[in-house]
Amino acid sequence: MTGAHGPLPRVVVSRRGLARLNAGHVWVYRSDLVSSDGTPAGALVEVLEERGRSLGTALYSSASQIAVRMIAPTLVSDLSAFIRARIAAALAYRERVVRDSDACRLVFSEADSLPGLIADRYNDVIAVQLLTQAMDAEPARNAILSSLQESLRPEAIVERVDARVRELEQLPARESGLLAGEKRETVITMNGVRFHYRALAGQKTGAFLDQRENYAAAAAVARGEALDAFCYQGGFALHLAERCSQVTGIDSSRPALEIAEENARLNSREIEWLEGNAFDVLKDYAAAGRQYDTIVLDPPPFAKTRQALATALRGYKELNLRALKMLRPGGVLVTCSCSYHVGEADFIATVAEAAQDAHRGVRLMERRSQAKDHPTLPGVPETNYLKCLLLHVNN
Ligand code: SAH
Repeated sequence: MTGAHGPLPRVVVSRRGLARLNAGHVWVYRSDLVSSDGTPAGALVEVLEERGRSLGTALYSSASQIAVRMIAPTLVSDLSAFIRARIAAALAYRERVVRDSDACRLVFSEADSLPGLIADRYNDVIAVQLLTQAMDAEPARNAILSSLQESLRPEAIVERVDARVRELEQLPARESGLLAGEKRETVITMNGVRFHYRALAGQKTGAFLDQRENYAAAAAVARGEALDAFCYQGGFALHLAERCSQVTGIDSSRPALEIAEENARLNSREIEWLEGNAFDVLKDYAAAGRQYDTIVLDPPPFAKTRQALATALRGYKELNLRALKMLRPGGVLVTCSCSYHVGEADFIATVAEAAQDAHRGVRLMERRSQAKDHPTLPGVPETNYLKCLLLHVNN
């Protein structure tokens, strides 16, 4: 082969790697690379199949097991220009799909053809995560920052660092902090409910924006006395409070509950917050004969690896069993799983078993996933991680 396609370094994928790409995936594992010798960390590369045909352009990592992440089926020579164009497209998509919120995910990594870049808007503050060698490199950072600034004119842009990811990508340690502007706190509004946002505190980039549409769906069917287990800063609880006579939120994190209480005050709501292990609290409440009309379960991911699947399913079963026992006939269970390794079918089967063990008849009212600003790629199952089921307790 000659350099007819320009000066990009080239990597060659094996047949197995090619089959994966042909099925619509965008990753090539290191073990599926035939040659990548001397490819610089974070480089823009041309991807070839073994017979020499070009498959397009990708970002290369010299450290991750995911060595290659495709960004285009064509040749891209200028990464900064590509990033600007993809960010513009990502923002235009959110304009179309985000309603009733000044907070949303602006860029969702592979799903926006910008693998390794997450950007979340919280009203006038943007939080970014740069999770790969390519996105962490200076030219990419500059293109990302300037595009976001020019298009949205935020008061501030903060970077949220994931120390473990930086280690995996063999990037030097770095602190979270402001990249532009000074503002560190703001208030966001989702579905008419207001939340405090502190740019340099909390989990993920600060809130669980992927649940935004599920909050509204839960509120639409919620009523009576409600329990929000694993409530964090009150995302579901505050939405339930719009419809329910009484709401209790449980979380094991005191800092999360302190913000939850501030959020309740911001919305002039009274919610009971309880610090504790939700497994124990649900068990005690069930034993004490407590009953509810609406229960939300949104635990942290139980299965971080495929090996942890069986244990995770036991955890989901136990939680759902306890919740179902406490729901009055006509009640609603909103049950979530954000473990990618737990597929929707497994999750539904687990909830069905829990209902069986609890001697409750349930019907599935809605099967939901992530909000539309967290789009999924049909060929990349890893982009689809959130399951949210709305169940009606018949008897
Ligand atoms: N529903 C929330 C997000 C929940 S994230 C929202 O929409 O914003 C998961 C939460 O579970 C975290 O706040 C974490 O502190 C909490 N948590 C983890 N283990 C717990 C346990 N055993 N008991 C209660 N809370 C727990």
